[in-house]
Amino acid sequence: MATLLMMTKAVVVVGAGIVGVSTAIWLRRAGHDVTLIDKGAPGMGASYGNSGLLAQWAVDPVTSPQLWRDAPRYLMDRNSPLFVKWGHVPRMLPWLARFMRNATDKRTRRIVGSLSPLLRDAVDQHRSLIQGTPVENWVRDSKISFVYRDHASFTADAYSWQMKALAGMTPTVITGRAAVQQIEPILGADHQCIAVLEGQGHVTDPGQYVASLAQYFEALGGRVVRAEVRDLQKGSDGQITCVETDQDRFDCDTAVITAGIWSKELTRKLGLRIPMEAERGYHVIFENPSQTPRNPMLMVDGKFGVNAMDMGLRCSGVVELGDHHAGPSAAPIALLKRHSATAFPRMTFSGTQEWMGFRPSTPDSMPLIGPLGSGGVFVGFGHQHVGLTAGPKTGRVLAQMIGGQHPNMDLSAFDPARFNR
Ligand SMILES: Cc1cc2nc3c(=O)[nH]c(=O)nc-3n(C[C@H](O)[C@H](O)[C@H](O)COP(=O)(O)OP(=O)(O)OC[C@H]3O[C@@H](n4cnc5c(N)ncnc54)[C@H](O)[C@@H]3O)c2cc1C
Repeated sequence: MATLLMMTKAVVVVGAGIVGVSTAIWLRRAGHDVTLIDKGAPGMGASYGNSGLLAQWAVDPVTSPQLWRDAPRYLMDRNSPLFVKWGHVPRMLPWLARFMRNATDKRTRRIVGSLSPLLRDAVDQHRSLIQGTPVENWVRDSKISFVYRDHASFTADAYSWQMKALAGMTPTVITGRAAVQQIEPILGADHQCIAVLEGQGHVTDPGQYVASLAQYFEALGGRVVRAEVRDLQKGSDGQITCVETDQDRFDCDTAVITAGIWSKELTRKLGLRIPMEAERGYHVIFENPSQTPRNPMLMVDGKFGVNAMDMGLRCSGVVELGDHHAGPSAAPIALLKRHSATAFPRMTFSGTQEWMGFRPSTPDSMPLIGPLGSGGVFVGFGHQHVGLTAGPKTGRVLAQMIGGQHPNMDLSAFDPARFNR
């Protein structure tokens, strides 16, 4: 008991997305005194509008060697899933240069090797977080179907499947219009090949899921505060002493920055320059759809996920490189609607909802997880396309590190100091 009391820390977690709430819950379960601060309601950042896929298979980064071949084509084609806010390009050039340097076979394999342990047991990690809690029903077991125009486009995607195979994932491939429609009747004639992975999972409403996790954290005795964090103060010994907000200051001996894309500004206050940019993503919800897929799908050509959620059929994805202070663009939404109409030609619906959010992306597609030096500040951000998937495990290992334990996983690839060497 004495040891337990000595280990108890006063922790402030900044940012209540999936990473922050997971961290706060695991810290609270370990007995720490935890305050979770967000400038808005929990779960309203990137964690709100994502595809809801527990993407254990998403080990291969956007920066595959094929990006050198695909990027110029994407930029010329109005039907491609890549958009650029050109006004922001000069500011993001250093990040872009580092990002493209990772588009080699050697680096891709290294990223796959590092991301696999973070992602491979994601469904179990979500279950560990929620089992026996009121939040249990948000997570579902499912398959995932990767949808292609035809077998030739599946074959053209061979590199991505080679990378997934390194992580132990091999699909069942179904080809032919009749066979595909028997499995997914919602699909139109334009898609005649699907590659199916078993043993996956999804969330039926990511925003509500995170909001409910925050309520569960409060029921555990944690404190949720709505305030904007302005600064982090350290004492003369370099140890964190408090987190300052627009409302109040919160004394602490440990702070965790889990503020998604906004972590960039917060860590800059601590003297760090983290190369991170927003891969802006969009969703369209088709309300009251006449058809839904039997399992979540990934439309490979259009680069968007399709998930039947509580509020309707959510089609979400595409990448728009740009500023996280600028508002949404019309073209990515129009593209999602065009692609969805082609993919699901018989589906009718009563209306649509639209959204944009910011994937926090590092040049090497890997998050930053761990301590920032020895002053009691930890970070968990930069999860790009897989933050929903990896949030609970990230929170669990952060709580272990803060409690002085050694997580049973090699975290060296996620070292927060790697960009400052
Ligand atoms: C279209 C789209 C589809 C996606 N699909 C998937 C998917 O299917 N599966 C998957 O795993 N991932 C997916 N992702 C990625 C995933 O959504 C993100 O990686 C993840 O949500 C990041 O979570 P987070 O907790 O790091 O950040 P966020 O959810 O953005 O949370 C950060 C929080 O910090 C708060 N904050 C920021 N600054 C401050 C401050 N100064 N003071 C107080 N609070 C602050 C914000 O208000 C916010 O609530 C998708 C993303 C997009 C955009």
